[in-house]
Order: sequence, then C-alpha cells, then structure tokens
Amino acid sequence: MRIRVQIRRDFLIGFARQIGKPDPETYVDDGKWKARQGGNGIAAAEDIKIKFTNCTSEEYAKIYQLNKPPDDSFLNLFVPFGKLSKELGRKLLDETIVLDARSNVPILSIQPFQKSEYEHAVKIKILNVANYETVQRMVSYQVRKFNACRKCLKCESVCKFGAISIANGAYKIHESRCRRCKACMSAKYLDGGCLMDRYLKTVKTPREE
Ligand code: SF4
Ligand code: SF4
Repeated sequence: MRIRVQIRRDFLIGFARQIGKPDPETYVDDGKWKARQGGNGIAAAEDIKIKFTNCTSEEYAKIYQLNKPPDDSFLNLFVPFGKLSKELGRKLLDETIVLDARSNVPILSIQPFQKSEYEHAVKIKILNVANYETVQRMVSYQVRKFNACRKCLKCESVCKFGAISIANGAYKIHESRCRRCKACMSAKYLDGGCLMDRYLKTVKTPREE
C-alpha cells in the first residue's frame, strides 16, 4: 500500500494563478505549493489534524498541539471571537483574554503551554458561554488554520467585509473591519475551517506500478 496526498490539482493550479505564479502547473506538479509554510507530503497532511488533550485541572480547557510557536499571528486568528486583551491576562502565564465584543464578558483564555509530548502547544479555555460545543468547534478550526494554512486565498473570499487579507505570505484578520459574523469559522462557509482539511488528507491506495 502506498500513502499519497489527495489533492485536487485544478484547485491548486487556480490558487497558484491567484498568487501570481508564472508557472502554476509546474508549481503544483513539483509540489512547491506544499512548501508555502514548510510542509511536504505526509508532514503536510499532519498539519490538518487537530491534536489536543483535555486539561486535567480545568474544565472546558484543552491543550492543542501547534506546529510552530504561538505568536501574534496565532492570537490574531481569535479576533472573530471578540476583543483581545493582554492587559487582563495573567502576565506570568503570557495569557491573553478574549472579551465578547458586545458584553465585554471574558469568553476565552489563551496561553502558551509546555507539554512534554508536544513541541509547541497552547492552552485554550472557554469561559462563560452557553454554546460550548459551537465555540469549541470554532476554536479548533482556528488552530487548524494556524497549522495548515497554505494561503490559498479562500478565507479572503469567505469574508464579505474585507477583513481577511493574505499578502506577502501573511494571513491577517483586520480587527477594525471584522464584524464578527463568524463565517470564516463556520462549517457552512468553510467546512473544517480551512480548505486544506479536504486537500491535504492522506488516503491509502493500492501500489501503482
Ligand atoms: S468572516 Fe470576516 S467579518 Fe466575519 S468573523 Fe471572519 S473575519 Fe470577521
Ligand atoms: S482556506 Fe483559509 S486558512 Fe485554509 S489555506 Fe486557504 S486561506 Fe489558508
């Protein structure tokens, strides 16, 4: 049996064109697109898996594996949830609190985390929300974006308010434009939170001679 990465070639060629590649077919067939964020082959397929463990000491908290250290670009993915505040977080833990944009009630706590089996990790705790499962799913979608985004530009087109830009290799949510409609974190508009969930899946196929 051979493991191969299942990718829709025509989709990838379209996105290679969108990002201005002069040789989109070669870019895709050579596998260069996978290197847009350091991934390749099976490693790229690992990026879409959401790996986490439940926090043993806190309810509604999960520790997620990341494929690079959480930085400002990670926190930026949580703008659609509400207002980000470092000031309200515990400084010693480098915690960021996300406040509901209307009520100013804290709804998320985000902090870098050390966990022996994960090289990079973050702890995210959901606070004060009634619809825990929905928020949980959206959190996991944003974790997937951080690990797997290949800057295919789909998120730009999902956001009707022009709040998402992908330029110079950077994915950014512009807080001043974000209406927090949550379309970019909705299975209805972006199943799995990232198109790569579909395109980087690995499947087992019979050996091809
Ligand atoms: S789709 Fe756009 S406006 Fe809506 S939450 Fe996402 S970034 Fe914000
Ligand atoms: S769907 Fe969005 S998060 Fe996924 S690769 Fe495309 S732009 Fe990045």
